[in-house]
Amino acid sequence: MTTAYVTDTRYAEHNLPGHAEYAGRLLAIHELLDQRGVSERMVRLKPESVSDQQILTVHTDEYLELLHWSETQKGLMLGQDTYVLPVSLEIARLSAGAAVRAVDALMLAEADNALAVSRPPGHHAVSDTGMGFCLLANVSLAAMHARDKYNLQRIMIMDIDVHHGNGTQDIFYEDPGVLFISTHQHPWYPFTGIASQIGRGDGQGYNINIPLPAGVGDLAYRRVYQEVIWQAARRYRPELILVSAGFDAHWADPLSQMGLTLGGYDYIVHELLKMAAELCKGRIAFVLEGGYNLTSLSHGVLNVAHALLGDDELSDPLGATTRKEPNIDDLLRHIKQLHTLA
Ligand SMILES: [Zn+2]
Repeated sequence: MTTAYVTDTRYAEHNLPGHAEYAGRLLAIHELLDQRGVSERMVRLKPESVSDQQILTVHTDEYLELLHWSETQKGLMLGQDTYVLPVSLEIARLSAGAAVRAVDALMLAEADNALAVSRPPGHHAVSDTGMGFCLLANVSLAAMHARDKYNLQRIMIMDIDVHHGNGTQDIFYEDPGVLFISTHQHPWYPFTGIASQIGRGDGQGYNINIPLPAGVGDLAYRRVYQEVIWQAARRYRPELILVSAGFDAHWADPLSQMGLTLGGYDYIVHELLKMAAELCKGRIAFVLEGGYNLTSLSHGVLNVAHALLGDDELSDPLGATTRKEPNIDDLLRHIKQLHTLA
């Protein structure tokens, strides 16, 4: 397998020491992938900056104007948790650019699959503002690019970050050209993502929320893939799969209370690879979102790289949790009913 690895050391320039979403996250990933000899086995690609014109495919004029203005300021906050430094727009362009470059690598057959390791993350950014540590909607911009440049009609975005991908949902809520599926802890930040949000207008039925109670782990996630996600993906027949790859559903993550292990994440990654192989010629790109325990984050990304390269290797220094998983029978029944999945 040829795997594209899109990343850049410049992501460290968007940094607020003491904040959960800080430069150390990517440094830990870069270091581990280098140390294990995995980086050099992938095709290293540099991200290109997304242009104003590209940004405007998902964001408003007013928000882009605010981001331009932020470059002249000393630093500001969007809400309570999202910092914007003078350099942040430039780095956010490169972060979205990594997802865009990953799409190009797949569509131009430079690689069989792709891994974009970038930050700031993107899935909480809505059209008119950044939030939740996210400035630009990276994966949404990549999906728009895949549609505009390669004329793709059906793109599946699978959001495995523990937080609901409210930004991605909003951007494609009335759009059948994107099947958005999100597994997330609920109720939890950003307090959206209930099952009955299924899309609107032409987009009705193309937004699948799987809001999971705290404590859910490997067993329940396995059921979600077997009973919901496979059926939905096969029915949609995507031409490309983009994964909003957050590693904060790991039991050791400080920003959630879920029970996934690195083995559980590995199972998810392999299911998505099988889906891509069956449905879209293996075209899949993993784009980094959250993950705030540096060990589960870096080993989670390492395992994705191994899986993309076709290695049979799992790195798990953290093991399992003893938390008991809640029952999700009723939830799965409800979701299957809402989306008429057998
Ligand atoms: Zn998250």
